[in-house]
Amino acid sequence: MSYRTPSHRATAVNQVRNALLASRKAVLTTHLNADGDGAGSEAALAAWLRANGTEAWIINPTSFPDSFRFLIEHQDWVVPAGSARARELCDSADLAVVLDTGEVPRIGRVQEMIRHLPAVVIDHHPIGDRAIGGISLRDVTASATGELVHDIIHESKGPWTSHMDEGIYIAILTDTGGFRFDNATAGCHRVVSEVVERGVDPEVMYERVFGSSRIRRYRLLQFALTTLEHDEEYGVSWMIVPRERYEEVGASAEDLEGFVDIPRSIEGTEVGLLFRMTASDDVKISFRSNGKADVNALARAFKGGGHVKASGAVVTGPIEEAVPRVLDAAREAVQKLRRTK
Ligand code: 5GP
Ligand code: MN
Repeated sequence: MSYRTPSHRATAVNQVRNALLASRKAVLTTHLNADGDGAGSEAALAAWLRANGTEAWIINPTSFPDSFRFLIEHQDWVVPAGSARARELCDSADLAVVLDTGEVPRIGRVQEMIRHLPAVVIDHHPIGDRAIGGISLRDVTASATGELVHDIIHESKGPWTSHMDEGIYIAILTDTGGFRFDNATAGCHRVVSEVVERGVDPEVMYERVFGSSRIRRYRLLQFALTTLEHDEEYGVSWMIVPRERYEEVGASAEDLEGFVDIPRSIEGTEVGLLFRMTASDDVKISFRSNGKADVNALARAFKGGGHVKASGAVVTGPIEEAVPRVLDAAREAVQKLRRTK
């Protein structure tokens, strides 16, 4: 049986598709510290827009991750947000496309650059307090934003290229934690079946994402593991990556991808946390839930957001104060959960 776009999202898919095809010059963006879903979705959509005669440019609030550069068909499609060229492109574009987030603060400095443009939002997060307006394809049942980009291209019958297929595969592979999380739905496997059928090689993709880590990632992990804590009573586990070590090894946010899965994987853990300091001495927290705890609510209490089982937030430092504050909130969330059981 051939693939069919899920019926509940078909109308939005076509609305967004029409808006995209009507654009002559579009600026694509995603959230701060793009992950595989943000980067893969942008790469696939840019390739498809270009194939349809739309000049597509990728302008992100933080630099495009090196490890996902291979997904971009032409490297010069990516333009640094701080450059004069980025501003020129935004000024002359007729559309902004926001992928894998739908919230104003998550696109950082790009918000101000695209403010004058009509926006299209393609996202799978629950809608937040500061939603970006415009035509949108938002579906929390999508495993990844890449699944939604797939449906847009599918509804146009491609034509598919390897860059589109690989971008979508990487988006789903990374956002489902390698097809392990509860968003690894039948729907996402259907999409993956399509792209693999067309030639994506899962072994090559795995190698690119999980099998080619820089040594600095493990230097950092080595240290972070010495900070690993598990609060047995409350079912809260965490790890801390201090700024000095981060800088010492020349790490970037990409190097920390998946670290939070370690505290999360400890037996008896309801909430797993990773703390790291940002360049401005704020503290970035990753929240993960193993079951019933709603870490989206927890992250929101700190002005963050994300999914029910995977969320993030940035709080002001110093880290010595931020950690106990967040741990208290996490313990309280678990306690509340246990009381309501
Ligand atoms: P991670 O912990 O891997 O950075 O992010 C997990 C999830 O939370 C992702 O879906 C991401 O988009 C979301 N997220 C991470 N950091 C933030 C943040 O600072 N604010 C909001 N609203 N969402 C975040
Ligand atoms: Mn995503």
